Amino acid sequence: MLERAGVANTWKTERWDSLRLLTPNWQTRLPGLAYDGGDPDGFMEIPELIGFLERYAEHIDAPVRTRTTVTSVSPDADGYVVETDDGTWEAGAVVIASGAFNRARVPAVATALPDRLDQITPLDYKRPDQLRPGRVLVVGASATGIQIADELLRSGREVTVAVGEHVRMPRTYRGRDIMWWLDRIGRLDERYDEVDDLVRARHVPSPQLVGTADHADLDLNALTANGASLVGRLGAVNGTTASFSGSLRNVCTLADLKLKRLLDTIDQFEGSDGGPRPAPTRVDEHPAVMLDLEGFDTVLWATGFRADYSWLELPVLDRKGEIRHDGGVVRDAPGLYRIGLNFLRRRKSSFIHGAEDDARDLVEHLERYLVASQVA
Ligand SMILES: Cc1cc2nc3c(=O)[nH]c(=O)nc-3n(C[C@H](O)[C@H](O)[C@H](O)COP(=O)(O)OP(=O)(O)OC[C@H]3O[C@@H](n4cnc5c(N)ncnc54)[C@H](O)[C@@H]3O)c2cc1C
Repeated sequence: MLERAGVANTWKTERWDSLRLLTPNWQTRLPGLAYDGGDPDGFMEIPELIGFLERYAEHIDAPVRTRTTVTSVSPDADGYVVETDDGTWEAGAVVIASGAFNRARVPAVATALPDRLDQITPLDYKRPDQLRPGRVLVVGASATGIQIADELLRSGREVTVAVGEHVRMPRTYRGRDIMWWLDRIGRLDERYDEVDDLVRARHVPSPQLVGTADHADLDLNALTANGASLVGRLGAVNGTTASFSGSLRNVCTLADLKLKRLLDTIDQFEGSDGGPRPAPTRVDEHPAVMLDLEGFDTVLWATGFRADYSWLELPVLDRKGEIRHDGGVVRDAPGLYRIGLNFLRRRKSSFIHGAEDDARDLVEHLERYLVASQVA
């Protein structure tokens, strides 16, 4: 295992200070080791997760070579040549486990923003006082965007959130955590070869959830109750004027509808009457479609993440720069595997606990591949 820094590097360097997992503690588990503390329904702070991952590496005696950055992977006659800043490796097979969130996805419109605005991504954001005083435009309303918007509001900032397609979820329903329900109805185990539209399933935004001690909901209603303004998806910037989609109400109605469907599915599964439902998302009759950016100081891009493959010297990426694979088996590159992507093999693939089933399936394939290639 070649690791450019140390175990749990992304959690040590690329997350903000107040972050807690949005998955409950009982879901923090890897093959052979699970959370065993006294608060299974609580949400872990990041230092605790780092401790868990470090313990896991010891537990399985993982052969990690830290401070070794892979600078290129290219094919050779027997497999792959892996160049690092600490020597060259030859490998019959390679598993890419370099993370799905290495780079912030920032839309092209960012280059049109006036120079006087500060721009920051969640990979660099640590805490509110890191931003210069003044108003903040948070672009994106999935888990990252709403969590950071909430923290900025609580620190006394004026915050406007640009809202595109999003997935609304209550923290709890019928007395249970929503992750418990998703597990129970089999949603997290849905397989990549079972869903109707896999490309879409792989690009569904993260759910609007936060893990807090009081198990509170964090949705657009919670943000507006705390003083946030909402606008639609950011479209264009012209001079100091930013234009936003006029479909904010529709986007929120759709998210409310999908939430209703999910809760209906839970009720059907249980075969009994449902619990109290979240109130519909409150949106102004005519939300602003233009804003003068002169009134803002910082733009925070919570518009998603992507993997970094800048070191992969193989023709295995599609035109969007995503790796072409079937459930983690990379196409057109025998012996090359990928793990840790959204919906790699199951809906839970992007979660920590999703690694177990995916790893088992991929290792089966990899073993067969190694045996076959030795025979050949
Ligand atoms: C903001 C945020 C919040 C999240 N919250 C949750 C949550 O609440 N619950 C949950 O289950 N999941 C959560 N996730 C998802 C979680 O991050 C992933 O499930 C998990 O990190 C995947 O682990 P991984 O080992 O595949 O990737 P990573 O944790 O990203 O690890 C990849 C490793 O590869 C190393 N690396 C990268 N490139 C190179 C290179 N060229 N050479 C050598 N080493 C390299 C990196 O240093 C890193 O240590 C969250 C993700 C984000 C971004």
